[in-house]
Amino acid sequence: MPYVREILAEGHPALRKVAKKVDPREIREPLFQQLIDDMFATMYAAPGVGLAAPQVNVSKRLFVMDVHDDEHEPAVVINPKLEGLGVEVELKEGCLSVPGMVGEIVRFERAAVTGLDRNGQKVRIEGEGLLAQCLQHEVDHLDGTLYIDRAANLRPVTGDEEKEIAEA
Ligand code: ZN
Repeated sequence: MPYVREILAEGHPALRKVAKKVDPREIREPLFQQLIDDMFATMYAAPGVGLAAPQVNVSKRLFVMDVHDDEHEPAVVINPKLEGLGVEVELKEGCLSVPGMVGEIVRFERAAVTGLDRNGQKVRIEGEGLLAQCLQHEVDHLDGTLYIDRAANLRPVTGDEEKEIAEA
C-alpha cells in the first residue's frame, strides 16, 4: 500500500543535494515502485501538482506530476532531461517545501522533458502553462535548487493568491 511520506521543508540539507541518476535496472525493483506510489500519494495528499524525490528525502532523479488538465495524464519521469522552449515569462510560483510563500520567477513558457517511465520505457512530455512551469520546477529540485533562490518579491501568500498558485 502507498503511504504519505513527510515533505521536507527548506533548510533540510537533502533539498540542496544534486540528486543521483537512477540505474535503469533499479526501476523494476519493488522498493523503487513503492517509492513512485508513495510519491503520488504524498503529492495528492499535500495537495500539489508535482513532487520530486529529494522532497521526500530520496536523492534520486525522478519526479511525479499531475497538472489536472485534459491533455496530460499523471506521470512519473525518471532521469529527466529538460528542454526550455519558447520565450521566457514571469510567473507566480510556490513550493510544497517552502510552505506559505509565493514569489515571481522567470521560466520558459514551454518545456519538454525526456526520460524513463515506471516500466523503464522512454517517455517524452511537452507542454506550456502550468505543465511547463512544473517540469522546470521539478528538475530544479533534482539539481538542489529552489525557486526562492531566484524569485523576486518573495512574500507570504494570502487568501486569493493561494487559490492562484499550484504548489509542487
Ligand atoms: Zn517545489
